Amino acid sequence: MLRSLNCPNCGAPVPSTSSGLFLVCSHCKSTVGNLAIYGKNRTDTACFSIEEHSGEVDQLSLMCGLGDWNGLLDVSNQILTTDPNSVAARCYKALAIFWLGDNEFSHLDIVNKLLCQAKTYAPDDPLVASISDVLANDIMVTAIRNENYGSEFTNAVYALTLANKIGKPSSSVSTQVVSYIQGAVDRLSKEFWMDLRRQKRNYDPPYRSIQLLYQCGWLINNTGCLEYFWLFGSLHAGKNTSKSYSPDLAQQLEITKQMLISKQSEKIQKQIGFDFFGNPKELVIGS
Ligand SMILES: [Zn+2]
Repeated sequence: MLRSLNCPNCGAPVPSTSSGLFLVCSHCKSTVGNLAIYGKNRTDTACFSIEEHSGEVDQLSLMCGLGDWNGLLDVSNQILTTDPNSVAARCYKALAIFWLGDNEFSHLDIVNKLLCQAKTYAPDDPLVASISDVLANDIMVTAIRNENYGSEFTNAVYALTLANKIGKPSSSVSTQVVSYIQGAVDRLSKEFWMDLRRQKRNYDPPYRSIQLLYQCGWLINNTGCLEYFWLFGSLHAGKNTSKSYSPDLAQQLEITKQMLISKQSEKIQKQIGFDFFGNPKELVIGS
């Protein structure tokens, strides 16, 4: 049977005859997850052989191929009512919730939770692993459609961080995520310096932006981004010592410091200071 699915980036139908984990959308060239694999690989996966619901699992796999996400959700829920530990139903339910969700990504918490449970019940199961990787990939494809600033970017970072925990995307999507994040970090750091030059000693970088830098730096393992976090996070921490989050921020700074030391970053010796005229510059700590 020829299954088709829709590209999470452009919505065009992507026919999937391949058995590979990922496919390229012929319309927008995004690398997207291949849903057809969920009907295959059934012999080498523990999560189906332990099921007593082979008929229902066939139904799940069919609905998945048809893109009937509401039907998929209903049948998954039915199976979970009679068999609360069903791994397959959890995986399909995660898939349905992803596809039924909106772009605010608030539904992704449930997706993540279901997949974490599936992994606990069936560790190293190839089907759970492939569904996780495909979902991680498609969440990322969806997330990087957001603008890389403002609340859309905050939402995207949330989704990307979660997707990173869920699974491993295709290499082309990983590359796109890195350039998406880097573009945003360049913009953020320019804004930090501009506001700092304007407001001088009065400048207090917003906590929300500081947190974004931290998340982005760790998301793509980027030293440059974590150096900005170190400089501006330290500045903010120094001005907000009695905030409820200050112990957490101190801990983030410490983790980052250790990482930057391991990368032999010279920024670890630096902090933001001011010259005689009050203009900001990087100073060696303690000088
Ligand atoms: Zn597409």
